Amino acid sequence: MNLARFIFNSRGISNLLHRFWSLFCRFGFTPARMEKQLQKMTDICKAHDILPTFPATACILRRYPKPITRLQAQGVEFAVHGLVHTDYTQLPFEKQREHFEQAIEIFEKAGIRMCGFRSPYLRSNNDTHLAVSDCNFVWASNFVIHWPVVEQGEFPPQAWEAYQKVLELYSSQSATQYRVIPHLLDGHVEIPVSVPDDEACVDRLELKRDKRRIGRIWQSILEQSHARGEIFTVQLHHERLPFCDEALDYVLTIADQLSPPVFKGQLATIANWWKQRRSSIFHLEVARDSYTLELKTPKEATILCRGMEGSKDHLFFANYTLTSKRVFSGRGILPGVALSSQCHPSWRDFLQEEGFLTLDPMHCARAAYVVEEPNMLTEEGAFNVLQAIDSADTPMVRLWRWPQGCRSALCVSGDIDCMTLQDFLWRIWEV
Ligand SMILES: [Zn+2]
Repeated sequence: MNLARFIFNSRGISNLLHRFWSLFCRFGFTPARMEKQLQKMTDICKAHDILPTFPATACILRRYPKPITRLQAQGVEFAVHGLVHTDYTQLPFEKQREHFEQAIEIFEKAGIRMCGFRSPYLRSNNDTHLAVSDCNFVWASNFVIHWPVVEQGEFPPQAWEAYQKVLELYSSQSATQYRVIPHLLDGHVEIPVSVPDDEACVDRLELKRDKRRIGRIWQSILEQSHARGEIFTVQLHHERLPFCDEALDYVLTIADQLSPPVFKGQLATIANWWKQRRSSIFHLEVARDSYTLELKTPKEATILCRGMEGSKDHLFFANYTLTSKRVFSGRGILPGVALSSQCHPSWRDFLQEEGFLTLDPMHCARAAYVVEEPNMLTEEGAFNVLQAIDSADTPMVRLWRWPQGCRSALCVSGDIDCMTLQDFLWRIWEV
């Protein structure tokens, strides 16, 4: 799928010409305007002690190595956004891998460090996933989650329809049924992108003249992700910065004020943390009536406990309090989750990813919680079981998702698809 088909599929013919006109107004014939916007977006982030991640197509890097090198020198992270801006789900595995390998080579030759991948149009399939693993990317960010922060009645019918179309195109899943967290899959970390993003707000929901509303939408995502202990990956293309600059600054300001704090980082930082965290070990010794549990974790890890110590006035998340302890001992109930003998083995990995001590069926009678799901893990099932575990009041120890005593996480990303109007027109033929 090339650009014209993407716009036609997702907007319909009536909006096609309007879209091309608005693009004509956003881009210039030289990269100067877009360079300024990339710098401005970086500066807004810097003022809040965070740096952005910019996935860029390799063909854009080849055309404009200087501005990208200048941003890298300021600490901005770059990632591969395809060799060209095409829908990779339309290409077979071999072709996808070939494109990614060529893109990596172009980045390496230009001296641009990268370890992540994001698909153009946020469209990927299992072959993309396998090609990303084959190319040894540390992270990918292709999975889209939409948050319940906008409602149909608030928008004109055509705007709501355009928003629904883009959700469909992205195969977006609802945050009401999904955990919005990274996942370690076949060696790389998949970090979900949050919607409504800049495109959904500006070009779909028609909020280009309502900067404050975009800010409030992103504030709601941030607050929900904070309440749930999840991650908000902002997606903001630099060409829409004039409509979203205030919203970005606003959401970063709110993030600075939240307590417990928000872990802010680039996508590579999030991915490295997620991998490091998974190397943690729970060492349990069980006697007839007592136990000792020792956690071997990275030193930045956040450890939570429930029903053991701490005041209920200082809850960190659900009924958990923060603890500096790494060794726990007690009598009676074991502070972990047992899988019953009927439980499908796929649930073990989910429980470990969520930072629980997992116990064998022999400990069911003493476990703080028992999972008895006979069917293979589904995301909806995981969402419900996790809520049940977290709302119980039995003693529990949990390795929390984020480091340094942070409750949730936030990243800022922006795909660089084009720097000039000519780039945009070239995209029509690039496949
Ligand atoms: Zn893109």
